[in-house]
Amino acid sequence: MQISPDAVARVLADEQRRFAATHPTSARLAADAAQHLIGGVPMAWMTRLPGGYPVFFERAAGAHVVDVDGNDYVDFCLGDTGAMTGHAIDAVTSAVAARAAQGITTMLPSTDAAWVGEELARRFGLPLWQMAMTATDANRFVLRLARAVTGRPKVLVFDWCYHGTVDEALVVRGPDGAAMPRPGSLGPPVDPALTTVVVPFNDVDALAAALAVGDVAAVLAEPALTNIGIVAPEPGFHDALRELTRQHGALLVLDETHTICCGPGGATAAWGLDPDLLVIGKPIGGGVPAAAYGMTHAVHAALAEAFADDSIDVSGVGGTLTGNALALAAVRATLTNCLRADDFAMAIPLAEEWADGVRDAYTAAGLTWHVQQLGSRAEYWYSRPPRDGAAAAAAVRHDLDELLHLWCFNRGVLLTPFHNMALLSPHHTSADVARHTDVFAEALAALA
Ligand code: PMP
Repeated sequence: MQISPDAVARVLADEQRRFAATHPTSARLAADAAQHLIGGVPMAWMTRLPGGYPVFFERAAGAHVVDVDGNDYVDFCLGDTGAMTGHAIDAVTSAVAARAAQGITTMLPSTDAAWVGEELARRFGLPLWQMAMTATDANRFVLRLARAVTGRPKVLVFDWCYHGTVDEALVVRGPDGAAMPRPGSLGPPVDPALTTVVVPFNDVDALAAALAVGDVAAVLAEPALTNIGIVAPEPGFHDALRELTRQHGALLVLDETHTICCGPGGATAAWGLDPDLLVIGKPIGGGVPAAAYGMTHAVHAALAEAFADDSIDVSGVGGTLTGNALALAAVRATLTNCLRADDFAMAIPLAEEWADGVRDAYTAAGLTWHVQQLGSRAEYWYSRPPRDGAAAAAAVRHDLDELLHLWCFNRGVLLTPFHNMALLSPHHTSADVARHTDVFAEALAALA
């Protein structure tokens, strides 16, 4: 059984009225802000959260956010992974405050830097590291490095991937199999077919054929797709990916920015993967902008001269604020106190509980939906979980997504926008999970 668009439209109208009645202060602030901020927000995606206008938050702590109207939300979005540790963790906020009081940025390394390099190496297994400000930054940098190492022009990505605002990766596979701009991509600098090869996730034959051409510098991949919903790798896919990249002389870059939900060293450590380069962004600063990329000795050996050259400041890698002392203090405090095995041992069972609650509710409602889990992340689908990104994109139902997000939001539950996804932290409780299960079940009853 599925839910009809008419049922969704009927319930949505009531929910929009409920939203307006419970968010009056945000309505006023949004109208004021819209005079000089596009859409009333400092960053356009902030309009993608539920409701007719942006909701302004007052404070966030642990797994809860409180808005300016005093509404409390269980936060399963956690800043789309940026606050995966939980919000405003004491050890992080105090380290950041102490560091800020003693100087934030100097172009000199701070004493936290070496600790951070060693800890990243311990977690992810790659020996040499550099910092970036965001995961987007880090991905851009590693692609430059990969082209420099291999002398090849192209990047291979998987269809419907997302790796940040990285030109080469803002693509989908066109009808003729060539890369084309992803729907929504604004002003691509060149035809992406010149820079990028796109292959369906889990399609080993297509991957082998694309790499055999010999022009691919790097495969940039999430261990599991997480940005068109979760698309899990099939058994054997990662072995084939590693073997084929080696065979055809392409570097393997794993972007663990979201898949860090699999454990302290991401899917790389959890599943025994063996990349040449690895990118990690978002949560490692506990909310403070920070990202990092690691590489093998072999990759570094090919770049050692470039890194030692006086012209490294115009190499296209790094930035003035990159590696600043505030970010490194935040990363040190975060990796010391959060995202550890003990934290995942709390968050992953909560994700299981969330998934069980969702499954029970849609089964009781007679719906043939599915729920899946990747470490501390879980999400539901209105169909069978897809095998590749295009199937995932085709399965999206924007009307139902909008309604379910708004329904939950109106009852104090914040989900990740763009997906039906929840991210769990050690700061969530079973009561928080039950709050979602209850409002989700009520939504299905209202839609019946
Ligand atoms: N890589 C992945 C896998 C991501 O999901 C994202 C953002 N959703 C990024 C990179 C980019 O992160 P940022 O926007 O912080 O640069």
